[in-house]
Amino acid sequence: MTDSIPQCNPHTVVRTIFDNSLTLVSTKEDELGKLDAAAGDGDHGAGMMRGLRAAHKALLTVDDDLPAGMMLMQAGSAFADAAGGASGALYGMFIMTVGKTLAAGPFDTSAVYAALDAGMAAIAKLGKAKPGDKTMLDALDPFVTALGTAAGQGVELAAAWASALPAAEAGVKATADMIAKRGRSSKLGERSLGTADPGATSMLYLLLSVRDALER
Ligand code: ADP
Ligand code: MG
Repeated sequence: MTDSIPQCNPHTVVRTIFDNSLTLVSTKEDELGKLDAAAGDGDHGAGMMRGLRAAHKALLTVDDDLPAGMMLMQAGSAFADAAGGASGALYGMFIMTVGKTLAAGPFDTSAVYAALDAGMAAIAKLGKAKPGDKTMLDALDPFVTALGTAAGQGVELAAAWASALPAAEAGVKATADMIAKRGRSSKLGERSLGTADPGATSMLYLLLSVRDALER
């Protein structure tokens, strides 16, 4: 009997991504707030929770036949409206751009890589940031590069995603040695030295949540 095996369709994966993100980030809310307090205003954990709760809620009411890319666009829009702050707008734009690029599929490694690359370009454009500025891009950029390499090697999505995570982890660690050049914490520049960037850290948590959804 194969019909008892849970179906892994893109619609379910998107819902699971936001279930997982909400669960993981709720255990990291204080940590993200403390990281943001080093040179910012300490609200990053609270903002992420507002955004993720709203995205999660938006997905509860979408039609079961809505294409996965459209689900992401609705989740991203809800995130941006609720989260507030620089990261709310940037994450919202990122999630919406990924969704718009993915549309109704396919959802193979190359398509997902292209969508994340487009999302990353949208963050860079909106935030006028580049890798090395101590932002969420310092987790995302090495991850996307590694995912692109795996896509070129024909690795299937769940394995490719997992194989790219160490690059994101290393990217987050490296932000501790950077001085913030963008956003609120850039005003206190040197004070951010020695502390990982909160947005890079939360980006890693979202990427980990996607891995768990893909492996389910
Ligand atoms: P705010 O700074 O408005 O309080 P948050 O505290 O929620 O917003 O988010 C701070 C995070 O947002 C930073 O750690 C950084 O990763 C990211 N960020 C801020 N400004 C930019 C920017 N211009 N480009 C890219 N990322 C940014
Ligand atoms: Mg803040």
